[in-house]
Amino acid sequence: ITRIGVFTSGGDSPGMNAAIRAAVRTAIYKGKKVTGIYHGYQGMIDNSMFDMDSPSVSSIIQQGGTILKTARCMEFKTVEGRAKAYENVKAAGIDALVAIGGDGTFTGAEIFSREYDIPMMCIPGTIDNDLNGTDLTIGYDTANNTVIEAIDKIRDTAASHNRLFFVEVMGRDSGCIALNAGIAGGAEAILLPEKDTAIEELIDMLSQGADSNKSSMIVIVAEGDKNGGATDVAKRVKEKFDNFDTKVSILGHLQRGGSPSSADRVLATRMGYYAVNELLKGNSRATVGIRGSEIVTTPLEEALSKKELKLNEDLVEIAKIMAI
Ligand code: ADP
Repeated sequence: ITRIGVFTSGGDSPGMNAAIRAAVRTAIYKGKKVTGIYHGYQGMIDNSMFDMDSPSVSSIIQQGGTILKTARCMEFKTVEGRAKAYENVKAAGIDALVAIGGDGTFTGAEIFSREYDIPMMCIPGTIDNDLNGTDLTIGYDTANNTVIEAIDKIRDTAASHNRLFFVEVMGRDSGCIALNAGIAGGAEAILLPEKDTAIEELIDMLSQGADSNKSSMIVIVAEGDKNGGATDVAKRVKEKFDNFDTKVSILGHLQRGGSPSSADRVLATRMGYYAVNELLKGNSRATVGIRGSEIVTTPLEEALSKKELKLNEDLVEIAKIMAI
């Protein structure tokens, strides 16, 4: 391996820049050349690439988003699209790739790397923490911190007016942010995509809170909750439960942004370093991950075949007890 290509793809997350920086600096330290590829797989097809050196990743560890930009690229899902991408990658002298992204990015890497026999290592970057092969994804900790900061602020105003707030957080399929930020923010109830909480059950929980004279109540609703989003849930609860003035707050894309937390910066740096070292050792078609405090790799085939991600049932139980 003489030249490593680095790109970010799919949904962005805070800490991707720290991962780029770590991969670039590790490769340079090992005497390799580095090409940055813009807009993920789209940049390979459009030949949007540039030479990177150590200064090109200066002062980015603290920045959210990704300096390499990201994109969703439909053309890469076609054989012709990937052929075009490979031509450009080859012409640039790139003989190994580091991909930072989510599930879709991993799928593309698995296919491309097999099709053209090019070594690839993936790094999990998504706020949803919904990838196999790792306990934590880059951006998850920052997103949780962003959400609890919002919950804390909402709590101040909610308590002043005896209000019941429904706060919608990201997570179409994964309740990780909702559950963790719900616990950290002291939510009275948390609705998760993985659980089928009936509105009646939610009203029971809120009634108990009202009976114990809570001055405010916050319900965290993951966007993928089966009852619909926070607006729908609030409407249905209000019909039967009018003790409290009801408000809705949808946090939306602000959860994707911001300066990465210390934990995400360190995680991303360890993963970027590890991804390059693994490539140089001959590992390929795998994702870097963290298990406990250890950095590990898992073959992409294995990481992608396990679709079920289990919610931490202990946390679900603890959240209920803390809401009494
Ligand atoms: P994420 O990586 O955050 O899950 P996407 O699902 O949009 O985001 O995937 C990122 C990109 O990976 C897609 O836009 C596409 O270019 C590529 N990709 C996803 N699935 C496939 C596939 N089945 N074959 C080839 N490329 C794919």
